[in-house]
Amino acid sequence: MESRDVPTIGWQRVVHFIDESAGLNAIISVHDATLGPGCGGCRIYPYENFEAALVDVKKLSRGMTFKNALGGIPFGGGKAVIIADPKTDKTPELLRAFGAAVDSLGGLYYTAEDSGVTEADMETIRSVTPYAAGVDKGGIGGNPSPFTARGVWRGVQASARYKLGAASLEGLHISILGVGAVGMELARLIHEEGGRLTVADVNPAAVDEARQRFGADVASPEDAIAIDADIFSTCALGGSINVDTVERLKAKVVAGAANNQLKTPDMGARLQERGVLYAPDYVINAAGVISVGLEITGRWSKIEMTRRIDKIGDTLTEIFDRAKQENRPTGEVADELALEVIARGRKAA
Ligand code: NAD
Repeated sequence: MESRDVPTIGWQRVVHFIDESAGLNAIISVHDATLGPGCGGCRIYPYENFEAALVDVKKLSRGMTFKNALGGIPFGGGKAVIIADPKTDKTPELLRAFGAAVDSLGGLYYTAEDSGVTEADMETIRSVTPYAAGVDKGGIGGNPSPFTARGVWRGVQASARYKLGAASLEGLHISILGVGAVGMELARLIHEEGGRLTVADVNPAAVDEARQRFGADVASPEDAIAIDADIFSTCALGGSINVDTVERLKAKVVAGAANNQLKTPDMGARLQERGVLYAPDYVINAAGVISVGLEITGRWSKIEMTRRIDKIGDTLTEIFDRAKQENRPTGEVADELALEVIARGRKAA
């Protein structure tokens, strides 16, 4: 295995790993380790080139710094990407080589599942390194996606209460873009609460499943944002709120699981100007990494997870209140709160 540091101003450590015999081409990025080792998932994605992967992993690892700080776990921000197609390129050799890459950092980075990585894959990675989580050990921890979905559901409820004065999601219309691991479970929770669903996905099988199980209406991925719904919930990949789409948005609430939903930071202000309440992505989607953090620190229990998931709604309400009082975008307020947590951690160290 070959590795080289990619010196990056503002990031603690970024390392490029190549193991040709195993087909591994990966980057691990630790943005900030003030509160503890970098912690965040590993994404397997067929990036066009190294630069595109580097941009993504840097942005994602920075997001993890903020997410972990506000999620109340003793970890900094980290993330990994493997440049490969998870459908065709994923082999046990590749996963083990990635595990060796994680291990070589000696605990600076803890990995877990992200897009393209399953719990079974994480088992394989864990056979090589102890710095891997998101693996069920007798009912403790495990695949973060169902926890993420539950946290997003709580966040959707809190946002609906705040913006629409709704006591529950019953009768509300929610447009979900991306019904994968998180989006499908979120759809189930919303359906059980009596919400009305429109779903969109590039995968026709996922759309069919949501239609059959939850009676969801179907939209094209391009139109999901323009549906006349109460809430738009993006659970696909990042960047769905951008200069082209923001003006077509009809919902008064944006609350979903995807990381980096705002393509550019100015989108937060644009949403605010248009009277749309935005639930900052890394706050609403934190439950998965909170589970991973509790698993690593040996503090995972069902009671603690439920408490932490319920707290996501409270944290969002606190952010919404402060944003309203100060007339600022919610994302800006969330960043400020996270930086306050990190500054307190730096002082205490
Ligand atoms: P997933 O890969 O299981 O699901 C994503 C879904 O989006 C798939 O069904 C895919 O077909 C669909 N999709 C992809 N591109 C699309 C497009 N352009 N238009 C419409 N649909 C598209 O991933 P997931 O684990 O459900 O995660 C969803 C999002 O939530 C990702 O952005 C991820 O980073 C974020 N997230 C996930 C977790 C977690 O615990 N899984 C935690 C935090 C954040």
